[in-house]
Amino acid sequence: MSAVVMDGKALAAKIKEQVRLRVEQMERKPGMAMVLVGENSAAQVYETGKQRDCRQCGIYYETYRLPEDVPQKELLDVIGFLNEREGIDGILIQFPLPGHLDDRAVQMAIRPDKDVDCVHPSNVGDLTLGVDCFWPCTPAGVMRLLAEYGVDPAFKNCTMVGRSNIVGKPQAMLLLRHDCTVTVCHTKTPDLAAECRRADILISAAGHVGLISADMVKEGAVVIDVAVNRDTEGRLCGDVDYKTVAQKAAYITPVPGGVGPVTRAVLMENTLTAALRRGKE
Ligand code: NAP
Repeated sequence: MSAVVMDGKALAAKIKEQVRLRVEQMERKPGMAMVLVGENSAAQVYETGKQRDCRQCGIYYETYRLPEDVPQKELLDVIGFLNEREGIDGILIQFPLPGHLDDRAVQMAIRPDKDVDCVHPSNVGDLTLGVDCFWPCTPAGVMRLLAEYGVDPAFKNCTMVGRSNIVGKPQAMLLLRHDCTVTVCHTKTPDLAAECRRADILISAAGHVGLISADMVKEGAVVIDVAVNRDTEGRLCGDVDYKTVAQKAAYITPVPGGVGPVTRAVLMENTLTAALRRGKE
């Protein structure tokens, strides 16, 4: 058996086109601002991608680059300024921040109705409570991929490898909201292979090349690889041993071209939603 490849690029193009068509009808266009602290080559790549996505969707875009040693107050002032900016509907801060900055204070400084990646504790709380809020882009992207390929999480077992605040935990919450039975694994899980083998839906976001081998995957499972790693030759890859797992799974996401593009497209959609909610038509 060879798995159906879940084409994140195609889904992302579809989502972005829907956003573009909606934005086209708006008199005032949505706006997004990204705040980058320090020089980080990966963050620069994400920034270029977001700029391109915004351009494709007709969304206004700004970047704020702050030095690595920026004082906390200066960063909070920039966020305060963006909170008040009429033309900005979505604020995205590139985490992780340098060690001297207080992540929680930064997350709490973002206006919840402009928090398009769901990092403000009140939005995280709403997500957990099942109240309507922005869904964090990566876990939301995974849900979109499942829906696109007709995978209903209800009555299924999911094993989520990774418990970070930006992927694993919110992913588990979204799956629970869709009636999935979720097991969350991490580095202290006693038997990761056994937990993975039970999964109808296996999602990996560990950031560990080759972590998920074919013997850890149930025949016919849906395998979603969130991770973005580099192999020994410097090529992008995920956590899953793609070639062998694709022979066993029913559905699989590639890296690159799987979750990543959909994550970015969801960010565009969230920014549009933020603008619509703020009555900017
Ligand atoms: P993170 O904060 O480092 O969290 C990694 C999680 O995986 C932790 O909970 C860790 O367990 C667990 N883990 C690591 N190695 C493990 C192992 N050998 N066995 C079991 N669990 C293990 O990372 P993150 O920010 O969630 O990102 C995870 C990956 O997803 C990275 O590769 C990142 O680049 C990628 N990512 C992709 C997107 C996208 O849009 N495609 C978005 C965000 C992140 P402990 O908690 O015990 O340490």
